[in-house]
Amino acid sequence: MDDASDLDEWLARLPKPSPREALAELLAAREAAASAPPPEPTTIPAPDYPYPLGHPLAGTLRFWCPLGCGWYHDERSHLDAPAQPLAVPVDPARISQALTEQANARAAAFRARVEQMIASHFEQAHPGR
Ligand SMILES: [Zn+2]
Repeated sequence: MDDASDLDEWLARLPKPSPREALAELLAAREAAASAPPPEPTTIPAPDYPYPLGHPLAGTLRFWCPLGCGWYHDERSHLDAPAQPLAVPVDPARISQALTEQANARAAAFRARVEQMIASHFEQAHPGR
């Protein structure tokens, strides 16, 4: 008898979920998905990409005024020099976590910057909205 058939035999002896158990599992998963926290509220509309690949400004994100007045804010953070060099810890086990934290910090700064641009536009062009 080889290992594979040992495993098959072992798996065959495991109790199978009854339809009732399977349904309960499905409902629990559905409930967990429904009670997950909603995505962070943001005033940032979905951006356009106004420049095609190969254009010097390709990769620019254009955020239009959500009220459609024609104003927009262009984000070119990838073309700007990184504000801070990446800090990579000496401990290899911490590298992935450190890079994730720095990416999250950059994403938060990006979101705050775009939200601030939109908020200032609203103050100037659409006061009270
Ligand atoms: Zn506007």
